[in-house]
Amino acid sequence: MATVGIDVGGTKLSSVLRDHGNVLFPLLRPAPIGSYDDLLLAIEDTVAGYRADHPIEAVGVCVAAWMSADRELVRRSANLGWDDKPLRTDLAHRLELPVTVANDADAAAWGGYLDIGRPTGNLVALTLGTDVGGAVIIDGRLITGTHGVAGELGHLVIDPAGPRCVCGTHGCLATYASGTAMLRRARALASESPGQFPMLLSGTSSHDITGLDIARAATDGIEGPLLLAEAATAIARASALISRVIDHSTLLLAGGASSIGAPLVHAVKSALTDTELIGPVHPMPNILLVSDPDFAGARGAADFAARLLV
Ligand SMILES: [Zn+2]
Repeated sequence: MATVGIDVGGTKLSSVLRDHGNVLFPLLRPAPIGSYDDLLLAIEDTVAGYRADHPIEAVGVCVAAWMSADRELVRRSANLGWDDKPLRTDLAHRLELPVTVANDADAAAWGGYLDIGRPTGNLVALTLGTDVGGAVIIDGRLITGTHGVAGELGHLVIDPAGPRCVCGTHGCLATYASGTAMLRRARALASESPGQFPMLLSGTSSHDITGLDIARAATDGIEGPLLLAEAATAIARASALISRVIDHSTLLLAGGASSIGAPLVHAVKSALTDTELIGPVHPMPNILLVSDPDFAGARGAADFAARLLV
């Protein structure tokens, strides 16, 4: 039983083949910048590439978008710039295959959940990318909610007096813990106190710092705790708030910024220890990372597609 999973991001399109439970042939290509039809063509082309050598039976696609509860309509996709599109039906018609469409954070959480061996207990996932996405898995089931938008954890308000968020409110988790926010914070810190960030600034100016510079400085430099404190504190507060409802045992970090790796996990653990909301009934969750953030969404989407066939 072979399926294809495709994760449509703002700048890249990642895909995998899933064959009898094995995830194979990961592929990254630039996402089409343009119309909805351009995206349909790019997906069609990606599937055709796999189909040349494998009998594909279903396709799973995930997008950064608000979906309708039945997953038939992409209600709103700010990154991709189009609204109210019947993506599932359009793809099924073009590909002449069963197709399922999911939210990208849901798919990345599911791919990560499979990746870490389906831990028992409840799981909360945060995808730390351009935005912060979220997902909740309870007793092995992904919770999508009454209206299809459960798990939008990136826009939990951490501090109502915090910076304005793209969603219109202030102090959302995303304003502190997205990759964009981490980059902005690192540039500001390095600009204010360059002497404290020797690794971060080696070979570059504060204005030109990239996500890779942050990851390298957090891993090999002395700057990790300072660089990651704000994001880690926000993640810890969000986890503590969510635990009041979900009582999760695993906090899974996915998305591009999760590739910072162990220093980020350490910073979140440290912040959780200091978070006042944590009490004896809500012990610290096990904090885990997806092994390959670029392909967690595609992997999850390919598994969703396989479920169409059983
Ligand atoms: Zn927000």
